[in-house]
Amino acid sequence: MRDLTTLSRGFAPSANVAQLKESATIAVSTRAKALRAAGRPIIDLGAGEPDFDTPEFIRRAAQRAIDAGATRYTATEGILPLREAIAAEANGQYRGAGPITAGDVVVSVGSKQSLFNACFVLFGPGDEVLVPTPSWTSYYEMVALARAEAVAVRGDPARELKVTAELLAAAATERTRGVMLNSPCNPTGAVYDAAELGAILELAAERDWWVISDEIYRRITYGTPAPSALQLAADRERLVVVNGVAKAFAMTGWRVGWAIAPRAVAQAMTAFQSHTTSNTAAVSQHAALAALTQSEEAERAVAAMVARFHARRDAALRTLASVPSLGYVRPDGAFYLYLDVSAVPSDDGDAGSAFARHLLEAHDVAVVPGSAFLTPGWVRLSYAAPDDDVARGVERVAAAYAELAGGRK
Ligand code: GLU
Repeated sequence: MRDLTTLSRGFAPSANVAQLKESATIAVSTRAKALRAAGRPIIDLGAGEPDFDTPEFIRRAAQRAIDAGATRYTATEGILPLREAIAAEANGQYRGAGPITAGDVVVSVGSKQSLFNACFVLFGPGDEVLVPTPSWTSYYEMVALARAEAVAVRGDPARELKVTAELLAAAATERTRGVMLNSPCNPTGAVYDAAELGAILELAAERDWWVISDEIYRRITYGTPAPSALQLAADRERLVVVNGVAKAFAMTGWRVGWAIAPRAVAQAMTAFQSHTTSNTAAVSQHAALAALTQSEEAERAVAAMVARFHARRDAALRTLASVPSLGYVRPDGAFYLYLDVSAVPSDDGDAGSAFARHLLEAHDVAVVPGSAFLTPGWVRLSYAAPDDDVARGVERVAAAYAELAGGRK
């Protein structure tokens, strides 16, 4: 992926961003869109973006909100009814002492901003932050932008590439300050069960680490529900739970995410945000409020979308079964398939990038190379795309793999 030295013709980037790489997930979908606009019939399995329209009851609520004057600044941390709704939902999960209140909630411009703000206020120079790997590309960069060091902790191949408390403990040093968790996981779709997540939370509590738990895919599961860190944590003293409406409600463009944090952390995140973006769009907050409070319609809409993801996942797995040498993590949540393409020949040892390039050039299919998630022998395929695109795209992926890697494992 390009870093700023190749992007920044004519200026020397500041030390803040000198090491920064642009987001590979965003770059793949931008390229797929550009090729489509130029007339190529690209099947985009790169973007992790639901292809559904935002449910009608949410769109209508937003229209009403605009007409009622939701066109001005709001409190930096978000409108009170939305924060109250988020706190109420969280209280339904949290088993520890003391209620979660609206003052513990900060609404931001997507969960991406919540994650960045949390990293920025919690970590700094000299700190190490454990990042289970593979992980979503932006965690590594967010930690680095906070001038801390992201320590990639390889997941266990025998456990769907998930990390264990033991693996985290082995990677920790006296400088470890925190750990980034994400279940269901982007890019693998793996789900941590209560025992796995509970053991990690226990270790973090013992060591006084901050836990940032990104639960943006929590409502998208295909078997048992994914536990929230809120259900398992003994207390919230060092816990920041991040979520949003983008994935479950097909609301990526509305840009509403939030963090539930100890009060002092929430206040620091709000102060930081007051100098950068201020509040996220007022109308978007009212749309998110409808998503969280019009429960019956919301449940129906989410269930219908999850059923579609589920059917696509099953169809994709049936197709992959025709190429038994192609390994993958069986996804129990989110909408990604992570494929082991390390047997594909490459000049530079980056089999995932070689395969992704070949798929795009020879088969018009866009996927994200595993190097974005610090695991170069893999590619990520998103099935948050129209049914036909997923079906045809996965067939081409399977055929291309058979052609390039044959029976090699
Ligand atoms: N999170 C999604 C993905 O991994 C959307 C793009 C991004 O923000 O990275 O594809």
